[in-house]
Amino acid sequence: MLKNCIPLILLVVLMTFTTFDAFGQRKSKNGNSTENVDRLKVTPKLVVGIVVDQMRYDYITRFWDHFGDDGFKRLVYEGFNCKNNHFNYAPTSTGPGHTSIYTGTTPATHGIIGNNWYDKELNAEVYCASDDKYHSVGTTSDAGKMSPHRMLVTTVTDQLRLHTQMRGKTIAVALKDRGAVLPGGHTANAAYWFYGSTEGHWITSSFYMDKLPKWVNDFNASNIAAGYKKPWTTLKDINTYLESGLDNTKYEGLFDGEVTPTFPHDLPKLWASNGDYDIIKATPFGNSITADFAIAALDGEKLGADNITDFLAVSFSSTDYVGHNFGVNSKEVQDTYIRLDRDLARFLEALDKKVGENDYTLFLTADHAAIHVPAYLQDHHIPAGYMDGGELKTKFMEFLKYKYGTTDIVKNSSNLQLFLDHDIIKNLDLKIGEVQETIARELLTYKDIDRVYTGQQMWENEYTEGIPYILQNGYNQKRSGDVLMVLKPGMVSYPKTGSTHGSPQIYDTHVPLLFYGKGIQKGATTKQTEISDVAPTISALLGIAFPNGNIGKPITEVLE
Ligand code: ZN
Ligand code: ZN
Ligand code: ZN
Repeated sequence: MLKNCIPLILLVVLMTFTTFDAFGQRKSKNGNSTENVDRLKVTPKLVVGIVVDQMRYDYITRFWDHFGDDGFKRLVYEGFNCKNNHFNYAPTSTGPGHTSIYTGTTPATHGIIGNNWYDKELNAEVYCASDDKYHSVGTTSDAGKMSPHRMLVTTVTDQLRLHTQMRGKTIAVALKDRGAVLPGGHTANAAYWFYGSTEGHWITSSFYMDKLPKWVNDFNASNIAAGYKKPWTTLKDINTYLESGLDNTKYEGLFDGEVTPTFPHDLPKLWASNGDYDIIKATPFGNSITADFAIAALDGEKLGADNITDFLAVSFSSTDYVGHNFGVNSKEVQDTYIRLDRDLARFLEALDKKVGENDYTLFLTADHAAIHVPAYLQDHHIPAGYMDGGELKTKFMEFLKYKYGTTDIVKNSSNLQLFLDHDIIKNLDLKIGEVQETIARELLTYKDIDRVYTGQQMWENEYTEGIPYILQNGYNQKRSGDVLMVLKPGMVSYPKTGSTHGSPQIYDTHVPLLFYGKGIQKGATTKQTEISDVAPTISALLGIAFPNGNIGKPITEVLE
């Protein structure tokens, strides 16, 4: 009896000396706030998630001297920099990347195992964001037939919607449909993406709405997109771009109709031969129009206008197109990041003005990094190269015929995984695990292949580090294949110009992770963090439930 009374007595004693104000801040006897900390949660008016498509971590350090004080430098100096942040699964591509950032987990759990993959149940290739149940809104094309239905778990944006009884708003914006649809989650108020061709409009899917809101129609009716039909010249004097290779190299691709990969890239002249408005996507102007649209969304969607936290997910996709075309060491990539820094500064200034300088929390990361152009590495004696797909295919088909009497035993090959026909294997009276292993041993003898793992190994083992760990995080039991191949470091399956990504190697996994704003500590760490830590860090900050497939851990150093 006496024991049960103690907490009550303590409570009375505590109440005599301290009171709590409406915001949960502790007050001293005279009523002043003594601790300006709400120990439960931080409630910014707006959370902004920024994903830069194909951004390597070392772009921050390489192009640092060209950045202004109010873009990347503002985030680094006034926010928290996780310098050693990695993707922890393969394939490192856009659909899985955006999904993993927002779900706090990996393809093993969220199910987005590639941009496209072979669906075993449908016996067909599927695209990560497509959905024929819905129709396009804002275009007569099919580009709007999208939804997040293939994503099997919730996002941090979903959890915020659930937590706020759907009163907190989620808006997602990107040139690429998958860069908007997947971050927005299943409950987004809207996801908008850009349809080029002869239209040049921001569009959406009937999954979200039946017609575009007035502010989007107004944006589309303005001449903003047409304003970017102008020559792409370097922002600064090209002779000051000492952090990249020459402007004219054999490692760069060309726009259709160009003779050399050099500045100025004359958009008006190249317009028709490069898909009209689509060419904007492959230049830094695509990031600029994304910033224009995101800023318009602040007013248009009244984001951060009240005390219920909203979420704006923005993805800058043009960096990926430029990297694929010109390569990570090109003048074009350097100019694209110098210009992105200016767009970022413009976006931050708009957030300060419209939401309030101390009223938003922001993170910036990437959906994957990218490799140096392998031909360039080769020219500098660094092991690299291009997979000989023809040799592999001929030799492998001969092997299958000799060993099993049929090549049909392999149903599909995609994302460096083989999908076997389990019915044929049963009819041949063979065991799946044995066929997987036989094929794996054969493939390991091919010169471009570095490692091979079987589905059975993925089922039976629990890998905790290195490449097998990365493969296992990308391996979804229901959706992934029977045999998993890893190319040698530096080896790609790609044309000989431009950069690509997708591998489990460190050049594809190492990406920036910056946090900034309300509730964020100033600082930096070289401790290894993983991409799945982003969503739980934001969830912990906001005091909301973690996404339901979460495996990441909040990065405690980031949070006050
Ligand atoms: Zn990407
Ligand atoms: Zn060039
Ligand atoms: Zn890409």
